[in-house]
Amino acid sequence: MRCWAWIGLLAVGSMSLADEVLSVGFAKADITPKVDPAGKAVWIAGYGMGRPAIGVHDKLFARAYVFKTGNARVAMAILDLVGVQYPTVRQIRSRLEGYNYVLVASTHVHEAPDVIGMWGERILKSGVDPDYIELIVAQTAKAIEEADKLAVPVDAVYGTVNNEELLRDSRLPLAKDGNLRVLKFKSKADGKNVAVLLQQNCHPESLAEKNQYLTADFNYFAIKVLEERYQCPAGAFSGPVGGLMALPSRIKTDDGKELEDGNFEYAEVYGNKLAKSTIEAIESAEPIKMSPINVSSVHCFIPMDNQGYKLGYRSKTILREAFVWSGDPWAKEMKLLDVRTDLSKRAALDTEVAYIRMGDLHIAGIPGEAYPESIYGKFQEPVEPNVDFPDAPLEKPVVDILPGKKILLIGLSNDEVGYIIPKRQFDMVPPFAYGRKDRQYGEINSCGPEVAPIIYQSLEKAVQQAGK
Ligand SMILES: [Zn+2]
Repeated sequence: MRCWAWIGLLAVGSMSLADEVLSVGFAKADITPKVDPAGKAVWIAGYGMGRPAIGVHDKLFARAYVFKTGNARVAMAILDLVGVQYPTVRQIRSRLEGYNYVLVASTHVHEAPDVIGMWGERILKSGVDPDYIELIVAQTAKAIEEADKLAVPVDAVYGTVNNEELLRDSRLPLAKDGNLRVLKFKSKADGKNVAVLLQQNCHPESLAEKNQYLTADFNYFAIKVLEERYQCPAGAFSGPVGGLMALPSRIKTDDGKELEDGNFEYAEVYGNKLAKSTIEAIESAEPIKMSPINVSSVHCFIPMDNQGYKLGYRSKTILREAFVWSGDPWAKEMKLLDVRTDLSKRAALDTEVAYIRMGDLHIAGIPGEAYPESIYGKFQEPVEPNVDFPDAPLEKPVVDILPGKKILLIGLSNDEVGYIIPKRQFDMVPPFAYGRKDRQYGEINSCGPEVAPIIYQSLEKAVQQAGK
């Protein structure tokens, strides 16, 4: 609250000017757990169960950006984790005061501690350490408060570059999002760079399933290059990583050596390539007006039809509330699901979709792993035979929902509900699409076929609400 008096003073006689100036601050806080193989195990999330950490390759961080104008204050944090859950985000928000909105997203790195519960020692044993959740909550709130204190008036530039070579689409139909999007902020006072903010679109999983050292994966290497180049802090949000945006199986070093994934050498080479493309985007970036700020979010319920997840809730392995599905995604509330009495009822969970407008920039906060198909409307025509819902209406593409061309797509925003599979691609029941004997990977980590329609309709609602 300490700044309000000062802002009030500035506002006298020059309300509109004070409202227009954007200030940005950045800070980060360490969220690396203590790794002691002789002590409490740290279970690594992302692949199979029972993968304890044996060391730390590079520290994990909560990185926070705070955006302020005369009458708005918004925080956006990005955490080196597989997918912070909505209840944890609400805990972080409860520690902060004076913000119009706090967005907490995860990079989806597959080499950091379990924060969902699915990756413990064995089935039906949660891999979440409540003390670690408390550390995340405290440190993320701390990073945001620090960033707030450091905020200075800035000029912003926005750039994009398309590099589909950074991606492999491991699920049919083929549709990639190779668009890296980047913002750079420069202090109005001394012209020094204040921060770089990147949106990249690949699963951070170059260390693969055998690694036991905690790491931010390729982002660690990419950020190092960017920070050196621009002499300011940098951070990388993850965009539409679903559908499924995986790493190329092999990449080439600058001197032509071919590398397979699963090691730090690959992570470094990939990180350097990502940084190189990001630098291209920055070098061709153009000034962007990022005020005034207007935030709109929509709370929604989604039916949770995944049998594995259900088992997780019922056994309390997954630490979040489940509800009894009432049929209305935008109901004010739903009854909490009681595992003793509501076993046969359809379950639901609640989440949040966000639209943040900063001047000419339009930010979508999507609470899981979006498919590039849904972003650009690259849906297969005609529909593939044998999918479960060939006649389902197509969701409105995100680029058509957002009322502007300069966009940022923040995946795993405030939650990780899993894959947000376009309903017409959902394929759980045999016979399977593409002549396959088994189902493609995706449905097993999705809450169900209703997720995509509800999430994108919620985004539409958020945009409409902001326009009012
Ligand atoms: Zn994923």
